[in-house]
Amino acid sequence: MLVHVACQMIARTDELTHADQATGDGDHGIAMARGFEAVRDQLGSHTYQDLGALLKAVGMTLISQAGGASGAVFGTLFVGGSRNLADKSTFDSGSLASFLGDGMQAVQERGKARPGDKTMVDALAPAAQCSQEMAAAPLEKAIVAVAAAAGRGEEAARALVARVGKAKTLGERSRNHPDPGAISFTIILQAMAEFIVDAG
Ligand code: ADP
Ligand code: MG
Repeated sequence: MLVHVACQMIARTDELTHADQATGDGDHGIAMARGFEAVRDQLGSHTYQDLGALLKAVGMTLISQAGGASGAVFGTLFVGGSRNLADKSTFDSGSLASFLGDGMQAVQERGKARPGDKTMVDALAPAAQCSQEMAAAPLEKAIVAVAAAAGRGEEAARALVARVGKAKTLGERSRNHPDPGAISFTIILQAMAEFIVDAG
């Protein structure tokens, strides 16, 4: 599933570059592609003890390879999200809720962005909320609902004015542009959903 996530992220490089050119410095697509190329290569040549070790390794690679704010933010999502999955070997709706809940806490501790600041947190927060509500549902139902929640959060963030990150300097001019990181987070969840639905 994470190899599929990595491939989808790499495939969307130009769209992410374009989004970051409008409100930032234009490096988001390249940063995510660099990080997820390293993730894809790493997953192809390693095995992991449990879900926690897998997610943590992905996060560490993003932190060290992607660079920029997004390397730290998305790396922290995976490292923080791995916290309570050390003894788990099956990715189910409970693990999804644990990943997103702990991941969101870690991202907010690290980056201090709150919902409404026009960052990836605006897609992550509703996704994490939805994943808690769906924690007892079958994974293929939960992941589709969670990906849709992320997408709605990303859409809603377009109307916001940035209060965090490089886009903050644009002030009012950041309104009616998408947030690049919110798009990336939504791509991650949509790719997970695609893979799980296709595998089922
Ligand atoms: P940089 O801002 O260093 O150029 P990128 O362009 O790769 O990094 O990533 C920008 C994205 O990172 C933003 O669209 C936003 O979603 C996310 N981001 C930036 N700062 C934060 C933060 N403090 N908390 C959460 N997400 C953030
Ligand atoms: Mg940038």
